[in-house]
Amino acid sequence: MGFIRSRSAVAPLRRGIPLSSSAVPSARTSVAQAVALHRPEDPMHCIRPGVLSDTARSFIEAFEGAVAGDVLYAVKCNPEPAVLRALWNGGVRHFDVASPGEIRLVRQMFPEAVLHYMHPVKGRQAIRAAYQQYGVRDFVLDSMEELEKILEETGNASDLGLVIRLGLPKGNAVYDLSGKFGAPFEEAVALLRAARAAAPKIGLSFHVGSQMLEPAAYERALELAGRVIAEAGVAIDVLDVGGGFPVSYPGVTPPPLGDFMAAIARGVAKLALPSSCRIWCEPGRALVAPGVSLVVQVIKRRGNELFINDGVYGALSDAGVPGFRFPARMIRPFEAMGEDATEAFSFYGPTCDSADKMNGPFHLPADVKAGDWIELGQLGAYGSCLRTAFNGFDQARVVEVFDLPLLETPGYRLEERVA
Ligand SMILES: *Cc1c(COP(=O)(O)O)cnc(C)c1O
Repeated sequence: MGFIRSRSAVAPLRRGIPLSSSAVPSARTSVAQAVALHRPEDPMHCIRPGVLSDTARSFIEAFEGAVAGDVLYAVKCNPEPAVLRALWNGGVRHFDVASPGEIRLVRQMFPEAVLHYMHPVKGRQAIRAAYQQYGVRDFVLDSMEELEKILEETGNASDLGLVIRLGLPKGNAVYDLSGKFGAPFEEAVALLRAARAAAPKIGLSFHVGSQMLEPAAYERALELAGRVIAEAGVAIDVLDVGGGFPVSYPGVTPPPLGDFMAAIARGVAKLALPSSCRIWCEPGRALVAPGVSLVVQVIKRRGNELFINDGVYGALSDAGVPGFRFPARMIRPFEAMGEDATEAFSFYGPTCDSADKMNGPFHLPADVKAGDWIELGQLGAYGSCLRTAFNGFDQARVVEVFDLPLLETPGYRLEERVA
């Protein structure tokens, strides 16, 4: 794979649609081989198509085993075409899209994909184009104003799916999402009734927050959803339990995937929904985090602080203020690895901003030095998609590899594919 400007390489929403070249999984090398081959001085994104496909397949199997439902991939988490292609190969057919750019990208790549427009606050032209040009039928909303807008811009279409986003009380997800979107109880009741009068398919959705470590959060949200549905007194066709499913990070091992599915199945069973009601979920992080890592190079060592070539304005935004830690391993292809002892390191990114700092700690061999490469794992989610070109650091490389992830998340069956 070539050497490309990162804004076109790993942020595909900014360019015309790239298709065949990056869309064909060709994972013939390991991360270490790719480092030896390219000696990358810019960040190198290592996509594991096999891991992404296996992760999607495991997740879909677990979800479908628990409830009669559909898995919608939340595209914002990683819209890289090679990632989308790998998820498609793993069986993903439904996509949670939130912008005209995401809609265009997914529709051009997969004409048969089912797109669900899950942003509760949309522009008028965006709604019209989604409906008329891109075949989108399902729209989420959390206000009367948005309902009217959707009906107006689709010419009071008779084939809409209208999903009401219910607000949840503040939970304990690592990323709380309760503040911005979601109708309060009474308004959700009114919206369900209004939607029922306007559309042949209606539903209720929520989002428990991202990297939710507690399976019971889904059960509690379902209980609240059940009270909204009962109060509205209307039949629903879809119940969408949202995203938030967690992955492992250093020092954080979530309960197995099956525990989340069991909690959802229990919560759904208590609601006595019509048997035709589909259950949806919208995972982002859980499908893609393990499937991409980032190789950075050490430019300078100062004590146990490493100056590296990517940072919070690049793919390591979550390592900054949010304080995420990522599994790390040193890659030194051209000389011996030295002793086994590890120490805790913090990182500085390449920009001149002193906020471009990542405290970690990241555990690496004690003799790590300038010129060494470091692979950071679990960066498939909210990594490359958040890159900026700040300070001119806009170059990156994308390669496909067959390595397993640096960390295992319980409940997923992944296979190494050595060519
Ligand atoms: C971001 C988002 C998701 C994905 O969340 P994860 O925590 O990555 O699973 C799903 N649904 C909606 C509405 C979102 O905004």
